[in-house]
Formats: sequence, C-alpha cells, structure tokens
Amino acid sequence: MNRSKDQFLVFGSPAIEDAEIQEVIASMKTGWLGTGPKVTRFEQDFCAYKGGKHAIAVNSCTAALHLSLLAANLRPGDEVITTPLTFCATVNAIIHAGGTPVLADVNPVTMNIDPEQIEAKITHRTKAIIPVHFAGRPCDMDALCELAQRHGIFLIEDCAHAIETQYKGRPAGTFGDFGCFSFYVTKNITTGEGGMILTQTQAQADRIKVLALHGMSQDAWKRFSDEGYNHYEVVEAGFKYNMMDIQAAIGIHQLQRVTPYWRRRQEIWQQYDRAFASLPVVTPAAPEPNTVHGYHLYTLLIDEQKTGISRDGFLVAMHQQHIGTGVHYRSLPEYPYYQQRFGWQPSDYPHAAQIGRQTVSIPLSAKLTPKDVQDVISAVKDSLVLAPAIAV
Ligand SMILES: *Cc1c(COP(=O)(O)O)cnc(C)c1O
Repeated sequence: MNRSKDQFLVFGSPAIEDAEIQEVIASMKTGWLGTGPKVTRFEQDFCAYKGGKHAIAVNSCTAALHLSLLAANLRPGDEVITTPLTFCATVNAIIHAGGTPVLADVNPVTMNIDPEQIEAKITHRTKAIIPVHFAGRPCDMDALCELAQRHGIFLIEDCAHAIETQYKGRPAGTFGDFGCFSFYVTKNITTGEGGMILTQTQAQADRIKVLALHGMSQDAWKRFSDEGYNHYEVVEAGFKYNMMDIQAAIGIHQLQRVTPYWRRRQEIWQQYDRAFASLPVVTPAAPEPNTVHGYHLYTLLIDEQKTGISRDGFLVAMHQQHIGTGVHYRSLPEYPYYQQRFGWQPSDYPHAAQIGRQTVSIPLSAKLTPKDVQDVISAVKDSLVLAPAIAV
C-alpha cells in the first residue's frame, strides 16, 4: 500500500494557486461580488484564447447548453441528436429547452459520436446536433459541419472536456453555431462552478445575454456599471444564469495557466500510456494527427474476461489503495428515467453501453505530483494483479 488513508487522492482535484486566491480576496474587499468588470474581462480573455467571435459567461455548462438550445429557437417536438456517452446534463438541457433528445451511438475507438449513426437518425424534426468532444478528443468536425449544413440544422458543441482541443488548427467550440464550456471543479480549468458560450453572431450573443439574466433587456446589464440608474424592460421569461465576479476572479488566473496545465496533463498521459502498455486493459486511442487533444480524462477499459476483475471490482480495489476514480460515463440508456420516458435501451447503443460498463477514469489533474502519478500507476497494476482476490 503506497498511500495512507489521510492521503486519499481525490479524483479531479483542481490546482488552485495564489494569484486567484488574491483576486478573490480583492473582489470581496471591493464589495463587488456579482456580475461586473471581472466577468467582462474573463469573457474577453476567453474569447481571445479561443479565437472566437463572441463569448458570454454563465454559471455552468448546463446553463450554456440550455441557453444555446433556446437561442436556436427549439420548439416542442423538435429533435436534438446527441451521444449516449455523456454527462446527463447534455440530455437534460435538451429536455428543459422543450426538445426531444435522440441518441446516436459512438465510435468504439474514439468514443465520439459517429456521424453515420447521426445521419441515420436525422428526420424532418431534427433541429440540432450536440456532439461532445469526449475526454478532450475532437469529434470528426468535417463530417459534422457537413451534416449540419446539408440538413440546415444547428450545431452546438459540448466542449465541457475540450477547452484546449483543436481540429485541423481550429479550436473546438468555434465550429458550431454555439460552443459550450464548463469550469466545474474537475474540468481543465475551473471557476468553482461556471460556464461559457461562444456564438458566431452578435445577435445570438445578445439574445443569450438577455436569457441569462431574467429576460431583462440589455440595459439591465448596465445596472452593473456606474453609469447611473437604467430602467430595463422584461422582454421574455429568462433565467438566472449569470456568472459572478468572484467566479471570474478565479477564471482569469486559471486561464493564464491553461497551457502549462495542459502540458502537465499530456506528460502524465504519456507516462500512463507507457506504464500500462503491457497490461490487459485498453488505454485511450492515440490522439489523431492534425488535432490537439484536450487530455481531460484518461480512461481504462476493464474487460473482466481479460483481467479477471469487473470494472466495479477495480473501482473498489483502487479506492482501497486510496486513489479516487471516476466513471465517464455509464451510457445514458442505463438510467431508468430515460428508459421510461424515451424507451431507450442500452443494447440499442452497443458501443456506448460496452464502454460505459468497462470504463474507469484515473486521476489526471495538473495538480498531481510525480509521486501521486507513481502511486496511481502502482495502484492500477496492483488492482489488476491483486484484485481478483478482493473482487466484489
Ligand atoms: C461537466 C459536463 C457538463 C456540465 O457542466 P456543468 O458546468 O457542471 O454544468 C456537460 N457536459 C459534459 C460532457 C460534462 O462533462
């Protein structure tokens, strides 16, 4: 046993440094806690980093997806195609926006949504596609953009894993009508909770801004400045999705370290690749040429036939060695709610189902020390060797 219980390695623990701690304190001392100048700066910095056109900060990626779908003027009965191998928020956002989610299975190697499977699901009611750049690996954007254009449907990129991701030199989130990002604690950079939407047009950006703040007209945002009192109108029933300056204070400094953090995760990723090459597990597919992988998740597939231990047994064995793990994801058709509401069955999406039953994510945070990485490697090896004895 390499680690004691009080050294439990928390999965996805973020690297928080002094610059953002001081910036949060500075925000609190000014008393400007809510949406203000730091949110504006974070939007500008993020937009410049991504090479996007317009950026709107919100309080989560879930909110970003919801607002993007509303800005796409989703109507009841409209269908939105997405992947079964994603966080439930992707599909819940479609439901909250009044749409009907439709799933298209993933490619078993890339774990990304398969354009051919999408094509087979397109109907006259299809309004949008939401691809997820799974684990930070870009989807096949040539095929997805072509599909969206040919069928005249919206493309909304779920970039929750994909801040650094690029496809043929172009950043993820700038292909679609909307690109939605997450700054949740476990993501590549964090604001605690937070999200960002990239849009292609000023009109969409304006609409999203209004929807993100109660549906109050643009003038409402000026209340956050010192230009004097501004009356606002309520132009539709909006939401309470704005980001706070305290969150942006963290994000501004996290964003400055996005590339060194990415490099550190790439290093860890390559160490894992070398360490696990001879084990009877499937490691992530190598990044594709002419792309930048976001290195958000390092996943192992545990096939009980080959390892003698189930995936869930492996999770227990890792935990017993005080290494936190994640599961990204059990495929959405596994959940009774969706089965009952939409009639989804795991066997209808066999690639996502199999990945969901075998996958384990091991720690891949920029915060990991060299010893942490060695401990993870030892724990994986020991789990596979010792685990059959402690299997559950
Ligand atoms: C984390 C995540 C979300 C939701 O992000 P929040 O900021 O927590 O709302 C959506 N989609 C995917 C793929 C995610 O991993």
